[in-house]
Amino acid sequence: RDPDFSCAYVTIRLASGTTGNGFTFTCGRGNEIVVAAIKSLSFLVVGATVVDIYKDFAAFSRSLTNETQLRWLGPEKGVTHLATAAILNALWDLWAKLLKKPVWRLLADLTPEQLVSVIDFRYISDVITKEEAIEILRQSQTGKEQRIQTLLTGGYPAYTTQVGWLGYTEETVTRLCHEYLALGYTHFKVKVGQNIEDDIRRLRTVRKIVGQDNIVSIDANQVWDVNQAIEWVKRLAEFKLLWIEEPTSPDDVLGHLAISNALKPLGIGVATGEMCCNRVLFKQFLQSNAIQYCQIDSARIGGVNEILSVYLMAKKLGIKVCPHAGGVGLCEMVQHLQMWDYVALSGDKEGRWVEYVDQQHEHFVNPVVIKNAHYQAPLAPGYNTTFKPGSLAAYEYPNGSEWQNMFAKGLFKDPRLNS
Ligand SMILES: [Mg+2]
Repeated sequence: RDPDFSCAYVTIRLASGTTGNGFTFTCGRGNEIVVAAIKSLSFLVVGATVVDIYKDFAAFSRSLTNETQLRWLGPEKGVTHLATAAILNALWDLWAKLLKKPVWRLLADLTPEQLVSVIDFRYISDVITKEEAIEILRQSQTGKEQRIQTLLTGGYPAYTTQVGWLGYTEETVTRLCHEYLALGYTHFKVKVGQNIEDDIRRLRTVRKIVGQDNIVSIDANQVWDVNQAIEWVKRLAEFKLLWIEEPTSPDDVLGHLAISNALKPLGIGVATGEMCCNRVLFKQFLQSNAIQYCQIDSARIGGVNEILSVYLMAKKLGIKVCPHAGGVGLCEMVQHLQMWDYVALSGDKEGRWVEYVDQQHEHFVNPVVIKNAHYQAPLAPGYNTTFKPGSLAAYEYPNGSEWQNMFAKGLFKDPRLNS
């Protein structure tokens, strides 16, 4: 309802001077807790040798997720796992910069054996083994070069969340629908769940303008109980919805399954994942068919390493991945993962999109490029996670110049004044 988009930003510096950047995203309050968790984990990274990290990246990622004492705070969930994601994302940016490739290309160029070597298969081998993953990746090699060319020419489809936020007036929804239709979008997402009459009003407007051939999905951001979700969404079924996103608690696998079963006859799928805590919970969502769309988030779970395991499980179980994005830099990161999936794993873009929200891109050295509602394949080395020096100087909390202005205006209290 009232996010102050924030992130905990990690810079890993090599003795040679090369740097890698990564981050995780928060809604403001609590960002300092993630920063503290990163500092607590940093002793595992500071002073390490690059070769030792990348020669067994799975073992290194496990050293973060299973640090013998910090593990008590998770394990593999919550603030310590957000911190792990920030650190591992920085290590992927660093690796890609060392190899002078964008992360999607680095991933696509790894052999199946090299790719699975970065993943910790503990707790998921009942659904996918390392050997099965290698076999799946081998089969997906066919046509890879052709798909790289297709990607470089046409990009990857995006959908927009910008047309139907809660409380938008008729005029705003109308204007935004026309605007995004003109930009080439074919898939529109509307926020729902506060007031059924308002949801009906905004969905009616959206459908009227985008027509019957375009796609409309809805997102409830976890507001409902299970039965309430079923009843509410049934009342919106006339608007021909592709998915209901986050209908209930992100931890409730069986609740999502009940919702999915109830909505199946109406042709509405269930989507979740942006706040799913780790690969174990993803495993349960995927293996139980509780979701039809798997929404990984690039700033959560154990960064790229753990997200790859979710893609592999989704591929094996035949469930489409449609990543969550928005926030600060989520679009910048997640495009790489979905592009790798297209090139080297699923081999398919059909019925898949990456979420797109047009905000905060101006702070990045290499922001996303969208053309005709498609993410254009990044070409710069790295994970597109480096902030502009000017943005850091202005917004670093609490020393940045913009914070100084806001403290002076009394909008926020300077934390350094606390004794
Ligand atoms: Mg969402």
